[in-house]
Amino acid sequence: MQNTEKMRKTIDRLTADTMLDPQELKLLLQDNSNETAEYLREQADMVRRRTYGNSVYIRGLIEFTNYCKNDCYYCGIRCSNKKADRYRLSKEEILNCCETGHELGFRTFVLQGGEDPYWTDERLVPLIEQIKGNYPDCALTLSIGERTPESYRKLRAAGADRYLLRHETADPKHYGRLHPAEMSHSNRIECLRALKSSGFQTGCGFMVGSPFQTIDNIIGDLMFIKEFQPEMVGIGPFIPASNTPFVNEAQGSVEMTLKLISIIRLMNPMVLLPATTALGTASEDGRAKGIRAGANVVMPNLSPVSVRKKYNIYDNKLATGCETAESLDRLCLNMEKIGYKIEKIKGNYPTFDRKNGDDK
Ligand code: SAH
Repeated sequence: MQNTEKMRKTIDRLTADTMLDPQELKLLLQDNSNETAEYLREQADMVRRRTYGNSVYIRGLIEFTNYCKNDCYYCGIRCSNKKADRYRLSKEEILNCCETGHELGFRTFVLQGGEDPYWTDERLVPLIEQIKGNYPDCALTLSIGERTPESYRKLRAAGADRYLLRHETADPKHYGRLHPAEMSHSNRIECLRALKSSGFQTGCGFMVGSPFQTIDNIIGDLMFIKEFQPEMVGIGPFIPASNTPFVNEAQGSVEMTLKLISIIRLMNPMVLLPATTALGTASEDGRAKGIRAGANVVMPNLSPVSVRKKYNIYDNKLATGCETAESLDRLCLNMEKIGYKIEKIKGNYPTFDRKNGDDK
């Protein structure tokens, strides 16, 4: 009981200061009681409502290629996975996804893919221009990995608004255990800084329970996010993927992911925070639990049904039910049931709107 009281005080301080000492964060993360998780959730929900009310933003996710030149140990579409059934959508197919999505009410499209050498700047720029030309009322998010600062500038100049690049872990040593030697933590971080200075609304994030991750790693991630001040943060449980070195590793904890969503909300009150597909895959109603814990974004799948099963970054990835863009009505109902409202608007980061005189 005494401990519960102490944790409440700690959480109140986190809410008021948007910060805690690493030592206190550690105690908070190590406290497995339901009371602590529930109080964190209540506070995070209150803080989210200050900026966003009960609005939940939707993003139409288009997984446009699963070719990848990288070999990340955790990822099912790593280049060494010869069993992955590779596909690449054509420009026309991508534009069709946008058309369907726009009719359904999506006002943000997210182009996500492996690091596919086919998609040079010369090919991406006209695609971005066409999407933004066809849908000037929409935001376009890219999630296509590490590129040069010059490339990021070109993509931004072509009209892309946001970019998701998870930092994966703030600890270079941990990074080295998740990625082959050709990939470097310093380059990942430099990419994030370049994205920000190119004027993208930028998202970082990490997997919860990735192999070798310690509580201190997670604290490092929370501190990194606080310092970097991203507009978006994506986190989800690690889920083992077949034909990868980590196939036999344990899945990340759903409870820890939910606690971290709440803590990230309290540390970064206005951040755009999705309840991710990985969370929805790891737990029934994971999406709803994520929203209740302080998340305010969901990203239903807009990819053509024929390729959905092929973007297998991990096993059993949700591709049916409320996950799909077609069942948006059901998602709206499910959100209403728990007291939230899906908004069919662009849903930019709040201060970004002011900066750009663009408030839709
Ligand atoms: N190539 C892009 C997109 C990668 S997929 C990029 O590098 O940004 C998006 C995210 O999915 C990754 O950043 C990673 O954090 C997550 N992911 C990959 N494999 C996963 C797994 N096995 N379990 C959970 N999340 C995973």
